[in-house]
Amino acid sequence: MTTDDTISADHQGLRAVKDKIAAAAKGVGRSPAGIELIVVSKTFGPDEILPVLNAGQRHFGENRVQEAVGKWPALRDKFPDITLHLIGPLQSNKTKEAVTLFDAIHSIDRPKIAKAIAEEQAKQNKELQLFIQVNTGEEPQKAGVLPRDTAQFLDQCQNEFGLKITGLMCIPPVDEEPAVHFAFLAKLARELDLPGLSMGMSGDFETAVELGATHVRVGSAIFGART
Ligand SMILES: *Cc1c(COP(=O)(O)O)cnc(C)c1O
Repeated sequence: MTTDDTISADHQGLRAVKDKIAAAAKGVGRSPAGIELIVVSKTFGPDEILPVLNAGQRHFGENRVQEAVGKWPALRDKFPDITLHLIGPLQSNKTKEAVTLFDAIHSIDRPKIAKAIAEEQAKQNKELQLFIQVNTGEEPQKAGVLPRDTAQFLDQCQNEFGLKITGLMCIPPVDEEPAVHFAFLAKLARELDLPGLSMGMSGDFETAVELGATHVRVGSAIFGART
């Protein structure tokens, strides 16, 4: 088997999700090229991840720094061109490890973390792609800045900490219509002049694409259910 055969190896779950993204994009006149599929590999190990890498996928998401530090450096040795996205909450004592390993962080939601990321980026001379997480459902237990505080927090990130913010991210409440939250996040991003929209998971990524997602985060639809 040549390297090219390996790269083009098929992965059914990945292909199915890609086809659905392309169809959803086409349906609203968007180019699928404008949508980055982030394959969420949390809880899955190299045995499950390698076939997805061999099928050509390069963007992956993890929600815990510690878990990602344990499994991705070895995979990155084999696939140096992967892009890693931190999609879960970040504690400030993990900032150094996070900035070292990841290429993007989707969960910035408080000044302490924004400041720590800015300082660590300066130390490492590295700039990650950064998203502000918005708690669109205003759920008390959920991470994210409140919608009404987002403009001010963005201003602080940009002007006090000097961070380049790509866009906004949300995780809609489980018991509500995701479309309402996606449309709201898209409107907020437009108002704030931010091009990036990280939204949509296994159950609702097509809806997210229809409403303007630039990054969808999909795990179980590709790997199967997490145990
Ligand atoms: C786990 C997770 C996902 C992916 O969830 P699936 O339903 O498995 O697609 C997306 N975003 C975040 C923030 C997650 O924690």
